[in-house]
Parts: sequence; C-alpha cells; structure tokens
Amino acid sequence: MYRTHNNGDLRLNHVAQNVVLSGWVQKIRNKGFMIWVDLRDRYGVTQLMFDADRSTKQTMEAASKLGREFVIQVAGQVIERESKNPQLPTGDIEILVETLTILNSALTPPFTIEDQTDGGEDLRMKYRYLDIRRKPVRDNLVFRHKVSMTVRNYLSGQSFIEVETPYLIKSTPEGARDFVVPSRMNSGQFYALPQSPQTFKQLLMVGGMDKYFQIVKCFRDEDLRADRQPEFTQIDCEMAFVTQEDILQTFEGLTRHLLKEIRGLDVAEFPRMTYDEAMERYGNDKPDIRFGMEFATLNSRAQHRNFGVFDQAELIVGIAVPGGNAFSRKEIDQLIDWVKRPQVGAMGMVYCRCQEDGSFKSSVDKFFDQEDLSSWAELTQAKTGDLICVLSGQTDKVRAQLSALRMELAERLGLRHANEFAPLWVVDFPLLEWDEDSQRYHAMHHPFTAPKPGQLALLETDPGAVKANAYDLVLNGNEIGGGSIRIHDKGTQSKMFDYLGFTPEEAQAQFGFLMEAFQFGAPPHGGIAFGLDRLVAILGGQETIRDFIAFPKNNAGRDVMIDAPAPIDNDQLSELNLRLDLKP
Ligand code: ASP
Repeated sequence: MYRTHNNGDLRLNHVAQNVVLSGWVQKIRNKGFMIWVDLRDRYGVTQLMFDADRSTKQTMEAASKLGREFVIQVAGQVIERESKNPQLPTGDIEILVETLTILNSALTPPFTIEDQTDGGEDLRMKYRYLDIRRKPVRDNLVFRHKVSMTVRNYLSGQSFIEVETPYLIKSTPEGARDFVVPSRMNSGQFYALPQSPQTFKQLLMVGGMDKYFQIVKCFRDEDLRADRQPEFTQIDCEMAFVTQEDILQTFEGLTRHLLKEIRGLDVAEFPRMTYDEAMERYGNDKPDIRFGMEFATLNSRAQHRNFGVFDQAELIVGIAVPGGNAFSRKEIDQLIDWVKRPQVGAMGMVYCRCQEDGSFKSSVDKFFDQEDLSSWAELTQAKTGDLICVLSGQTDKVRAQLSALRMELAERLGLRHANEFAPLWVVDFPLLEWDEDSQRYHAMHHPFTAPKPGQLALLETDPGAVKANAYDLVLNGNEIGGGSIRIHDKGTQSKMFDYLGFTPEEAQAQFGFLMEAFQFGAPPHGGIAFGLDRLVAILGGQETIRDFIAFPKNNAGRDVMIDAPAPIDNDQLSELNLRLDLKP
C-alpha cells in the first residue's frame, strides 16, 4: 500500500497513529541532526520530520540525499508540532518518519513549484506538468471540473442527453477556417474538424432526441488573438419544439444554477436588451453592464457650431467618466494617445471637464459655450467632478472606438469587479452582416439561423434590416453563449444558402444531407452553445482562459511542451498521397 492517507488529511485527532504517506518533496530544511521535508500531493502538504535521535541512521542518511520533487513514500507516526503553521490545514501535526523509500528521483525543476513561482510563462508552458503540480493551477483545473459536473448534472436533471458527435467531419461554417485532416484511405480527400457540432445537433433533433447537450471540443483556424485557443470547449445544446423564449428560460436557469452552486449568488431575472439598443447604449453587442458610462448621442448639441470635425461626423457620442476631472492634463493626453493607437483607430478625442464650481472646461471651448457643454453633461449624465469624453465619425467605427475606451477606463478605474456578476441577454441580432472584403452579406450567426417570423420577405428589399431569431448570453462584457432558433424546412434553408452566395450545387455538396433530413419531418428546433473555457474563467473571477486549460496552446497556436505543430516525414506524406510544395 502506497499510502494510508493523503497529504491533506491529517489533523490533531490523528496524533499517535501510524501512517503511510506518498508524494513529492516540495521543500527541505536540513539542520543535520533534524531534517524537515514538506511532502505534497493533490490534496495538500504534510510536514515530515527526521530526527537523528529517533530515526534510524539509514533513514537519516536517505533523508539527507533527498532533492526537490523526489517522489517518496514514508511510514511514521503522527505527532503534534511544536511550532504550528496556521496557514496549513495540516499545520498542527507532523510525521516522525520511521522509514523512507525513494520511489523516484527528480531533476532539479526549472522553476519553483510553489504558489508563487519564479518561472516565466514560456517556461511554465514547456513544463506544464510541473506547473500543474502548483496549487493555483491545480485549483483551477479542479474548479473547471466542478463547473463541468454542475452543468452535466443540471442538464441531465432537465432531461437533456449527452450525445457524442464525430470529430472527423465535413465543414460546419461558424465563420472561421477549418482545420483539415487528410484521409489515407481516401486519397486526396480531407476531413474537417468541427468548428462546432452544429449540423449534427440539428440532425439529432430530426432524429427525435428532443434535448441534447455535449461538452465538446471545437476547432477553429482563426487568426490568433490574445487569449484565444484554436481548440476550445463548448457546452453545446439543442432542443426541439421550442421557441426563443423556451431557450432563454432554460439556459437562464442553467446559468443561475451555476452562479448559485459555484459562487453562492442569487441573481435576479436576467435583463434583456436588443442588439440595436446594446449598440446604441454601449457601442458593443456584449456590453459590460456592471458600471455606467452609457453612450449619449450629442449630434443635436454638437453640430452647426463651426467645429468642422463634428459637422462632418455621422455620429458624435460621449460618455461621462466618473471622477475623471481629477485626471491631469498629462493623463488626458495619454488617453487621447490611447484612442489614437491603430488598435483603436480614433482620429482624436474631445473632452470636457465638469469642474467643482459647476463650470465646464473643454478642449473645444473656441466652438462651444457653457450652455452647449452643460447640455452635453445633461445628455451623458455627467456630474460635477466627471470628465466627458467625446468621439465622432462614422457610426460603426465611433461606437467601437468609444466602447474600447469605456472598457479601458473601467479597467483603469477599477470598475470591473471580478466578484460581481451581471448577466444579460442580447436578442434580435441582425440576420446578416456586410463583409467589406467579399462585398457581400454573410450570416452573422451561421447560415442555419432562422429570421424572425415574417421577416423573410425583407431579405429581397432590405437585407441588412432583417432580424434573426438569435440571442447571446453576455456576462461581465464577455459573450459566454450564443444560439438561435433554426430554419427547419428545406425551402427556407436553400433560399438562405442562395442568398449567402452558395450556388445550388455548392449548397447541395456541402449541406445536401441537412436539407434532405429536413424533408423527413424535421421538428422546429433551436439551441445555444456556451464557451466553457471562458465561462469557467469568469466564474473563477479571472479572464485568462489559458489558466483554466490543462494543456493550452500559446498565442502563436503552438503547444510548446510537445512541440506541435511539427513537420511529418516523407513516408507519412506519401502514404497520404501528399506532397509539400512550400514557397521559400
Ligand atoms: N453552433 C453555434 C456556435 O458555435 C451555437 C449555436 O447556434 O447553438 O456559436
């Protein structure tokens, strides 16, 4: 038997018991006649004591040869500690070791395996298995497990069935590129890895499964952005015979259950906001509503005052930054530089101080009098001591820029409290989205999303105005879930493909199986998918998803531990009938 207890188990009431423990050597203090060792496993740390007076010479000798991260087994007696450690659950006791067995030696680890480590990100990724021995990383994985189990139990309790769908499939469009896998047996042909199980879950509805979910890996070959993973996990769900309202109720239930179970929070009914309203009030379809700084349109009070920049602008929009009058001139200049960075892309920023004496001081005093500025304050709901920040230009761009500024300021002002949770449904998304590059409309969600009832005809006349039966669940400024009611008849689906620029042949080749299935009695259906990695990070009060993934990829999409992706050798290539023709 390797152990009678784990390293988090023992307390004062175990004193005088003989126990066997196994684990890793975390720390060694060698005083010659006395040696203390911290022994670690997943459950905790227990202090071991080797005493020249009471342990055998052989044991003392073996103990003096221990190194960090050696794997050992000890047998001994639980004794009360003389100097207790209140930081440690096992801090009242220690083990007086009788026998020590070295199960495996270890190289000196490249970084310290303690809560605070000296290892940089790259090094810790290369030796992720060592990083996982650290409590903060381990705790995150345990936390993720708890969230997954809570989701599984809840959905299972609501009669959802977890069904596995294949990974080797044909393209499912979610707006990214596919990762592809060559087929050896079908020379020259490729599988695609699923961007989501979208078509399969719809087929499960045609198959009468009624309520499906799956905690499932999805793969998207996208340009890498900070904290995005090429493979990630979704809680993927689909239901038959449902309206949008049924879906919102069901998954609001799941989310509320998670907040209660995981964070102990009772959250009121989630507010709902249309996409148009979210864009108008926050410039963003996933607004963080934990704090104010709502957008105010200033056109009526900012144009026709001979200020060319505003006169030429489609939209002039401002926010009131709480307490922002305290910013120094230098700090404001830095903010202006911040919005002018290429990542944000504003041409400049107009600001107005709401001074303590009730007067206003703006960067455009030449054009605007106190009355104008006071009306800006009224519209933005600025109070004495605030700073009004104003951007102008083309509507979509300005909204995106001011939204970025709003989030940045909230971050700087400490308004994004990690332990506050503000969920929100955003509904009535546009069905289509104009794509400048290809000069055509794309499905905003995906091509299987149904338009709102009665809106199909609008497709011919004003496609950009068609609203979809699509919704997102937003939590603290993050889209944590999104879904839609689906098209479930062949006619509408093929019309949609046609509209999105698929030729009938292309639509048939790619999605013939789905349209065929729709002819065999497809029930009305709809669903949603949550991004599990992000959900777990947010519930954990953090934002970096990598910290909650056991073996994440770095920002260049590489696994630096196993060194992937990697070239394959010529034999393997020729077996696959592939030839590399790399451009220099
Ligand atoms: N398949 C969709 C996605 O990955 C979710 C859904 O529509 O249910 O975003």
